[in-house]
Amino acid sequence: MAESAEQVHARVMAVADEHGRVPLPSVAAWDVFPWEVVDGALASKRLADPAAESPREGEDGEGCGICSTEPAGVLWVNDRWRLKHLSERSGLPLVIILEPVEHLDLDDLDDAMAAEYGLLAVRIARIVEGLPNIARCHVSRIGDGAEHLHIWFMARTAGLPSIRGSFAVDWDDILPPGPEDVWRADLLAVAQALASYDGRAVLTDD
Ligand SMILES: [Zn+2]
Repeated sequence: MAESAEQVHARVMAVADEHGRVPLPSVAAWDVFPWEVVDGALASKRLADPAAESPREGEDGEGCGICSTEPAGVLWVNDRWRLKHLSERSGLPLVIILEPVEHLDLDDLDDAMAAEYGLLAVRIARIVEGLPNIARCHVSRIGDGAEHLHIWFMARTAGLPSIRGSFAVDWDDILPPGPEDVWRADLLAVAQALASYDGRAVLTDD
């Protein structure tokens, strides 16, 4: 069962500094990070000049890291889709990724795959939001880094007002990860619940 708001808060405060802050995550140094401090005040960065689009990883199916390596962190599969966790735990209680087995982007999905994606997205969100202490499961496809479709499902803890809304993505990088046994138990619960509809749970509890 995911940690309660009180458990998360106590765990974070135990490693925070005297102001209750934890270290800045690496995203603060990314060139796409939109804020900077100017003369002691937070300001938006200057909009960079127009530039050619950078090629995405696996553009046109060439050199795709998802297709060329054995899938890791898989918790559920069927013949066309798989659900994975990240290689490392992160600040939110659960972050899982749905991807097609075949190298397809979102606009490559035919009607059958698009319909199945809709079913899976609803089922995964319903399952994650049904876990104790989880208020919401955010569903997001960005796709600027890699062409192979990968949809993010990000669970946020109920009762932590800082983490409401789209900045949950930032808090996922800011907060220290929770206990591994709690994380694995929740991954297993999601895998087994999704397999009750279709496909099979790959992550086992042994
Ligand atoms: Zn691929």
